[in-house]
Amino acid sequence: MATDCLFCKIASGEIPATLVYEDEQVVAFHDIEPQAPQHLLIIPRRHIRTTLDLTAQDESLVGHIYRVAAKLARQFGIADDGFRLVNNCNEAGGQVVWHLHFHLLGGRRMTWPPG
Ligand code: 5GP
Ligand code: ZN
Repeated sequence: MATDCLFCKIASGEIPATLVYEDEQVVAFHDIEPQAPQHLLIIPRRHIRTTLDLTAQDESLVGHIYRVAAKLARQFGIADDGFRLVNNCNEAGGQVVWHLHFHLLGGRRMTWPPG
């Protein structure tokens, strides 16, 4: 755990969040500033700074995150209409929290190109 990391603290329970899913590898919770009617964040429990820090050992973890996203999309009723699964990487990509996370957004029509 990175002691100064917000999402490590959410994963450990030190900082509260509205959890919607957890297992040994990942935690999912509601984004505090939702950008869509449904806006969840899915994070690995282990501190990984960005997508660029993933290694070969993390391949099954990333696959697992996608499967959890699909499960949550169904559970939150956004699977059939459609949703967006987004990872922002580094500053120009819009990353502001330096612990790998995936945004699951749905409940409205998404625009393209993204902002
Ligand atoms: P990023 O821009 O790094 O991809 O996304 C970070 C996300 O974390 C943002 O959507 C922001 O609203 C969310 N966030 C920041 N602080 C907190 C917090 O304390 N609790 C929760 N649940 N979400 C947070
Ligand atoms: Zn962390």
